[in-house]
Amino acid sequence: MQIFKAGERPTVRANSAYFTGTVWQDPVVSAPEPARVAAVTVAFEPGARTNWHTHPLGQTLHVLSGAGLIQVWGEAQREIRAGDTVWIPPGVKHWHGAGPETAMTHLAIHEQQDGSAADWLEPVTDEQYKAG
Ligand code: MN
Repeated sequence: MQIFKAGERPTVRANSAYFTGTVWQDPVVSAPEPARVAAVTVAFEPGARTNWHTHPLGQTLHVLSGAGLIQVWGEAQREIRAGDTVWIPPGVKHWHGAGPETAMTHLAIHEQQDGSAADWLEPVTDEQYKAG
C-alpha cells in the first residue's frame, strides 16, 4: 500500500504542445501496470484550454471549481460548472478548458490503451474558442 500525503507530489505545468495558455496538473491516480486508470486534477487559467483530442477508451470529467467550456467537433460549445460531470466516449474529437474570463478546474479520469490515454490533435484557435 502507498499513501500519497497531500503536497508530496509536485504540480506540473501542462505540456504546451497540447494546451493553450497556462494549465496546471496534479496527479491523483497514477497506478502502475497492469492498472490502466489515471486521474489528474487539471486547473485552467482563464482562456486556457486543451488542444482538440480524442481518448482511445473515453474520459470522464468532473468539474471541481469554476466555470469552463467543452466542445465536441461539429457541435456547439457547452458551459460546464463546478459539480457537473461529463462522459466523452472513445474516439470523439473534443476540447475542454476555462471560460474566457473564468478559471476552471476539473478532475479527469481516463484509461490507457497501449500506453496512451489521449491522441492529441491541432490547437483550438482563438477564432474557434471565441466563436462560443
Ligand atoms: Mn478530453
